Amino acid sequence: MNRRRFVRNSLMLGGAAPWALGRWSPVQGALLPPTGVDGARLNAEIQELRRFGGTPDGGTHRVAYSDEDLGGRDWVLARMRDAGFTTRVDPAGNLVGTLPGTDADLPALAVGSHIDTVPYGGSYDGTIGVLAGVELARTLHAENQRLRHPLRLYVFQNEEGGKTGSRLLIGAVEPSELDIVTASGFTIGEGIARLGGAPDPLTAARASTGPLAAFVELHIEQGATLERAGVPIGVVEGIVGIRRWFVTVTGEKNHAGTTPMDQRRDALVAASRMVSAVDEVALRIEGRQVATVGRLEVDPGAPNVIPGSVRFTLEIRDLSMEGIEGVLRAIQARAERIATDRGVAVDFEPFYLSEAAPAAEGLRRAIEGAAEGLGLRHMRLPSGAGHDAQSMAKLCPMGMIFVPSRGGISHAPDEFTEADQITAGANALLGTALELDRALG
Ligand SMILES: [Zn+2]
Repeated sequence: MNRRRFVRNSLMLGGAAPWALGRWSPVQGALLPPTGVDGARLNAEIQELRRFGGTPDGGTHRVAYSDEDLGGRDWVLARMRDAGFTTRVDPAGNLVGTLPGTDADLPALAVGSHIDTVPYGGSYDGTIGVLAGVELARTLHAENQRLRHPLRLYVFQNEEGGKTGSRLLIGAVEPSELDIVTASGFTIGEGIARLGGAPDPLTAARASTGPLAAFVELHIEQGATLERAGVPIGVVEGIVGIRRWFVTVTGEKNHAGTTPMDQRRDALVAASRMVSAVDEVALRIEGRQVATVGRLEVDPGAPNVIPGSVRFTLEIRDLSMEGIEGVLRAIQARAERIATDRGVAVDFEPFYLSEAAPAAEGLRRAIEGAAEGLGLRHMRLPSGAGHDAQSMAKLCPMGMIFVPSRGGISHAPDEFTEADQITAGANALLGTALELDRALG
């Protein structure tokens, strides 16, 4: 398929005319890119980047700090420069490109994602958001357009190993994390040095971004919601928060043969009712929260002993931390009633917290406007997985665009998104950037 037809077909997704992009508004009177991004080039480059860590099954093994990661970053850096970005490695070890805007006083409009993968992972997670950012700059250049804001492209380091690059920017990395040995064999500290980051990344990286107008990340969904709905553009409502507890149920260990049924304080019977209650509460409350008991340890765990204590994990995820709190309170009330009924004690001990990061409403609307301008159907959905955008939400208004993942598969070689879906996502990113550039100060 030639380029022109490829682009037109991509833009036609959902029945839109290719010139629909021209609806975006005139920065200094000019009409915006009538052709959109070069989808053929973008998709070809996604495959080319597989030179660094590509596996024969279509996947990619490019873990952070490995030689493949360094090679891939150099390759991306060359393309960023070609596209007109001034580039640097920031103190956190992220690659940062800046394209000057027409108004030097405005804060940067940022886009980006990551190119590192999980071990033996897929070829689209992260990569599409980075290369679409490069394509965005090229498209503006080809159309002789400049944004008012400087355009900033981030290639975050070690997303898959704990969002290290973006978390360093918000001062969320603990000193002990630098000693963690990653899949590359290097510690995070050694890895940052390999990438050219600062010798003291914890202090130097914080607040190194300067003021930002907004951050938008294009990413694969990693779930099957969009595919099932047949919708090409997902407007992310936010990244869910996560809290986890150890729940300990204490009863009385006793002889399984000689203790009558009505005199038992069986911790496992009580715990099993609590597990059912977790499921019932999360189902009953309105919303899209999820609650899971994933592990259960029974003491002493012998066939002829009434369980004396049980410890299980409880995990609750929701788009708002208040939502999580509400589900927890309802579960605790049920658990306490069960405990009283069964003559046992119950205790909740928190052990993990990841803050929810809501997307800014203005950015959600800008993405929806961009999709509509392209004639692309869109739907709102939460992100159940973590992303660098979660960190960036601490610095500026954040938005995320999802494109479908075939079969909802990710972090595996079978991870796949159709070329025209990637092109549609990149055009939605372009449209969003143009709209934000117009609307934001
Ligand atoms: Zn990712």
